[in-house]
Amino acid sequence: MLIFDAHLDLAMNALEWNRDLRRPIDEIRQRELGMTDKPDRGRGTVCLSEMRRGGVGLCVATQIARIEHNAYSPVFGWRSQAQAWAQTQGQLAWYRAMEETGETVQIRDAEGLERHLQRWEPEEVGRAVPSPPRRDETSRPTEKLPIGYVLSLEGADSIVTLKHLERAWEYGLRAIGPAHYGPGVYANGTDATGGFNANGRELLKEMDRLGFILDVTHLCDDCFWEALNLFQGPVWASHSNCRALVSHNRQLDDDQMRALIKRGAVIGVALDAWMMVPGWVRRKTTPEGAALKLEKIVEHIDHICQIAGNAAHVGIGSDLDGAFGREQTPMDLDTIADLARIRELLKARGYLEDDVAAITSGNFIRRLREAWG
Ligand SMILES: [Zn+2]
Repeated sequence: MLIFDAHLDLAMNALEWNRDLRRPIDEIRQRELGMTDKPDRGRGTVCLSEMRRGGVGLCVATQIARIEHNAYSPVFGWRSQAQAWAQTQGQLAWYRAMEETGETVQIRDAEGLERHLQRWEPEEVGRAVPSPPRRDETSRPTEKLPIGYVLSLEGADSIVTLKHLERAWEYGLRAIGPAHYGPGVYANGTDATGGFNANGRELLKEMDRLGFILDVTHLCDDCFWEALNLFQGPVWASHSNCRALVSHNRQLDDDQMRALIKRGAVIGVALDAWMMVPGWVRRKTTPEGAALKLEKIVEHIDHICQIAGNAAHVGIGSDLDGAFGREQTPMDLDTIADLARIRELLKARGYLEDDVAAITSGNFIRRLREAWG
């Protein structure tokens, strides 16, 4: 069974961190020793070969660029939407370059999805249930398989006009989270309040018409509820953890999860340390100091399953190397290949083989099939 990761900022790492993700992880880390421009230098966890080693054969990969809002931006922001658009087009060019060398393949419709699954797991396609016993991980011929990616946009500031949205659909963009941190052009995100503006409501309508998936991650509470009312199409939360376990507006509360489950959504749990355990202080708390291990994520997964009454609405949206590295991930996680260990951790918690498969890939695959059916 492959692993589906619903949130990776691959192009951002390539172009803003200057990481050649085709190189081995040790080399990427080595090249950054002594660099101080970003807090996670030398501590990256994601590269394409580590994804293959862990069986992470399918992911949602982002374009991401925001603008300053009234000269205020919680993270770096461009001065105009045109610049933000240009940044996302550079990111698209990187994804294309990776496709041209056979490293990745863009997944943009049902046919492409099934072809890709066939490529990675020829025996399992068409089965609702994966066949135990599992194949030996190390003998899997995944070394040269292209990694499938579904293109998503984190924060919609770069969409200059609705014509740009249409162009984005044409080049294969399939999911959009309208906001990121703070206020945005169309919607309010993490740490902000207030609903969609008129342009934001138009954006949702046009997303509906074109067939986009709405990613509710990062929407502030006001926008979250408004979006579920306004948007009729498929919904997911690509990288969100439980507010009941770590209290912060960035996380989803139980009512929000219930509403998402009612809409058939899947919630991807993230491995950003501060979203996993309460009391984490960025650049101060260490994974060892917090005794944070990968098994902690099972509590978030389990909480979502308890709310749903089944294991059909949770997946993985690791957000690994989303502007943080090993200084802010579980201490027993070395690279993204360790996502594969979530299987054992779920089994140890009592999850059955079918549920483990659903959580680690099946649920997001189902969501895509429904969206593109
Ligand atoms: Zn994010």
